[in-house]
Amino acid sequence: MVLLQIAEPGAAPEVGTERQIGVGIDLGTTNSLIAHFDGADLNVLQDQAGQASLPSVVYYGEAQTLVGFDAEQYASVEPGNTIASAKRMLGRSRQEFENDPYIQLAGGEGLAFATDAGAKTPVEVSAAILSALKHRAEPHLSGPIVGAVITVPAYFDDAQRQATRQAAELAGIKVLRLLNEPTAAAVAYGLDEQAEESSLLAVYDLGGGTFDISLLRMRAGLFEVLATGGDSALGGDDFDRALAAHLLDALSVSEPTAVQRRVALALARDTKERLTDAASVSLDVGGLDAVSSEITVSRSTLETLLSPYIERTLAACRQTLADANVDAVDRVVLVGGSTRTPAVRQAVADCFGLDPLCNLDPDQVVAMGAARQADILVGNRQGDEALLLDVIPLSLGLETYGGLVERIVDRNSTIPIARAQEFTTARDGQTGLVVHVVQGERERVEDCRSLARFELTGIPPMVAGAARIEVTFQVDADGILEVAAVEQQTGARSEIVVRPAFGLDEVQITQMLKAGYEHASEDILARKLGEARVEAEALLEGLQAAMTVDGDLLSAEEAAALGSDMKNLEAVMAANQSDDIREATETLGKASEVFASRRMDRSIQKALQGVALSDLESEVAEENTP
Ligand code: ADP
Ligand code: MG
Repeated sequence: MVLLQIAEPGAAPEVGTERQIGVGIDLGTTNSLIAHFDGADLNVLQDQAGQASLPSVVYYGEAQTLVGFDAEQYASVEPGNTIASAKRMLGRSRQEFENDPYIQLAGGEGLAFATDAGAKTPVEVSAAILSALKHRAEPHLSGPIVGAVITVPAYFDDAQRQATRQAAELAGIKVLRLLNEPTAAAVAYGLDEQAEESSLLAVYDLGGGTFDISLLRMRAGLFEVLATGGDSALGGDDFDRALAAHLLDALSVSEPTAVQRRVALALARDTKERLTDAASVSLDVGGLDAVSSEITVSRSTLETLLSPYIERTLAACRQTLADANVDAVDRVVLVGGSTRTPAVRQAVADCFGLDPLCNLDPDQVVAMGAARQADILVGNRQGDEALLLDVIPLSLGLETYGGLVERIVDRNSTIPIARAQEFTTARDGQTGLVVHVVQGERERVEDCRSLARFELTGIPPMVAGAARIEVTFQVDADGILEVAAVEQQTGARSEIVVRPAFGLDEVQITQMLKAGYEHASEDILARKLGEARVEAEALLEGLQAAMTVDGDLLSAEEAAALGSDMKNLEAVMAANQSDDIREATETLGKASEVFASRRMDRSIQKALQGVALSDLESEVAEENTP
């Protein structure tokens, strides 16, 4: 939503000249950055000391909370209070981390770190980082931040994306969209603006905690993600651990304490980074309480330690290429601080047979691309809306009575999109309903993909068809679907959030589309039959109930005649011919008209009994008051 600006009388700003401020945030496992595109330049916003990267570390002491470099200072002295790599734990479960020697979990069910300032969840830690970035950015900007594009690894699942959004919300940042990190990098290189007809692009992103490999096809300024792969638990942290273990081993520290482990890790990381430019490094290991105080590590020693990890990234690359049926790409983009390591660059170049693009700082490209995207999403570049906007690959709908699908959002709609439709109850006195969200192009629920189910309760009992339930489908810019059902009279509400594209690959989508075309005529018949049955059943049920209550309104012959029409309809229904069912339903409907009008008279009489005329008048007057 773009806010309307209200100007003082006589001081109206020129329409359309005011730039909205959107920022791009790379919320990294290891380092986080914030960038802004001001219409002319893309700036990665620095802190007062001139640092662009903010270590994704938060210190929760008894007296204070610190973020970034200030927090890192406490890593070896108060390891338990210093939380790093929280992104790895976003949207994950406690069980996955119970045996991790580097993490002290707080008690209780959920996943949280035990600190002197209390239990802190990964969402809270991430929110602290986002909030620090926002504060760092504000002095550089000419006005308030309208919203942010936050990047996430391509591998992030729905829960991890939701957790990222929660963190932003907690930090008071409006999320314009979550963008996959590799796509952001491609945008930063301006590859979307190149005039080439079509090109294939691989983005190799090796950061501190995650490895992503993505294959994108760029055509006429639009990116299509062909395949993604990688490992959400592989990165420079693993390099550090391997080297730390090597250091401790070389110093014969066989059972390191938590503090020794931290010191070794910090030393390892520093050494690894220095070995990017130096052939060998001497380091002071006095802090490890070892016998010797200095040790030398050569680049080739490091490379031997790293090679199994690098090989794992290459295996993932080959797998991803194979998945997409691609032999070669036109370009490779390097992303992530770990791609500074010469052995990594060389391995990637050999694997793809290409010199990778790395002229932009691999640590900053993701934030830069996100900033460009944010600028478009806040509305500063009219006419560019189509850039990177995705479409819904398959229609979304819900199950209605009779096992039929009511389509709410058509396939190929561009997102974000919102659609609402009203539904009603099928049975008298129905107080709840199950909303079953499905995806696909077929008419019957059983032929579609089931996405989610939830219940709406608290519908006041009414006759069938009287309740009004509004169901809204909302798909946001990163494909997350929220379905909500609201009963209009009481406001009873229930909702669910799903990511429809999750777990679906191109092949499955194509298959579902093909099935939709192939079965189109069969589906139309199935739908007609389903609808005819629903109508017939409703009429039969209604008549049966009415005869139990008001049977005395019919003579014996009338009741018998009606009964035989009902039997006839039941018999026809068993034969599954929609035209016959419709005909028999119509006959029965006509035959029951007299009965229905007698019932109507009786109910009016009942309603009027004991009601004074004056009450009635005032009721009517009230209803007419707007
Ligand atoms: P993330 O995306 O996970 O936040 P980054 O892209 O910031 O991570 O990369 C962080 C990783 O890059 C860390 O493991 C860090 O040690 C590594 N790194 C940073 N600079 C260098 C360097 N000069 N040489 C080798 N590795 C480096
Ligand atoms: Mg990164």
